[in-house]
Amino acid sequence: MTDKIIDGKLLQGKILEGLKKKISKLKDKPGIALVMVGEDAASQIYVNSKEKNCKKVGIYCERHNLPKNTKDMELLRLIDDLNQNQKIHGILVQMPLPKHIEEKLIVDAILPHKDVDGFTPVSLGNMMEGNPLIEPATPRGIMELIDSTKIDLKGKHVVVIGRSNIVGKPVALMLLARDATVTVCHSKTKNLGEITKTADVLVVACGKANMIKGDMVKEGAVVIDVGINRVNGKVVGDVDFDSVKDVAGFITPVPGGVGPMTIAMMLDNLLKAKELGDKYSV
Ligand code: NDP
Repeated sequence: MTDKIIDGKLLQGKILEGLKKKISKLKDKPGIALVMVGEDAASQIYVNSKEKNCKKVGIYCERHNLPKNTKDMELLRLIDDLNQNQKIHGILVQMPLPKHIEEKLIVDAILPHKDVDGFTPVSLGNMMEGNPLIEPATPRGIMELIDSTKIDLKGKHVVVIGRSNIVGKPVALMLLARDATVTVCHSKTKNLGEITKTADVLVVACGKANMIKGDMVKEGAVVIDVGINRVNGKVVGDVDFDSVKDVAGFITPVPGGVGPMTIAMMLDNLLKAKELGDKYSV
């Protein structure tokens, strides 16, 4: 049973170890700015965890905690300063931002080669052209988890549930680039279970607790659960782990699957950002 569970935490550990080694050999350390507006409890946990992991591998890390009533222009000025700052190679703005701030305006202001989240239109556009600079961290983590099963994606049917700009759409593009046949489902998809049952690989990112049950999954499929949902104080995924684990060939747990890999890929993106920054700086 345990050999079907894809251990994201273990994989994360190996990646962080590799990054630590690489960073220890660099003359100038890569630097990241973690920007947070307001005091959302979940966001604080995410930012603390990012900071902890940055420090673990030797990354220079700057925290910018701004008050909830920060205006668009003030945040834009900070992004502009960080864009110019030679010590900072990557900028991460923790989402969600307070409602009065236009998220797109802020994300679009980050220089593409400092966009370690891979969320700017330039980053996404490059990926769509098949010429990625920096790819979004969660989809990269999903690809690593799939690859850890050694499945050859060429010609395989992959069903992605969810079409957000940060998970569903980019991961679908990455899978296409690997010659998979990709079906993207969303809230208006009819007969979801019939489609998911044809998937060799099923990526679930819909934010609906335990929505995918065992009878919706093909025998032996690789199931990647991206969801993070809080139910009665417990974190659960979008996949009903107990019923799916008996059918799937491989499955990621929540927590301990995609989450740790998102952090690992974000830090790996920072190293890429540093290489790009070194190339572009005069
Ligand atoms: P969004 O809310 O932006 O998107 C959800 C997507 O799921 C939408 O495309 C929506 O369809 C689709 N959807 C919703 N309900 C259904 C349904 N009943 N059947 C089929 N499709 C449905 O979420 P995100 O993409 O940002 O995140 C998805 C999940 O992944 C969340 O639980 C989030 O917390 C988690 N997450 C985890 C990360 C990690 O590091 N582990 C990182 C990022 C996200 P439509 O477009 O029609 O509305």
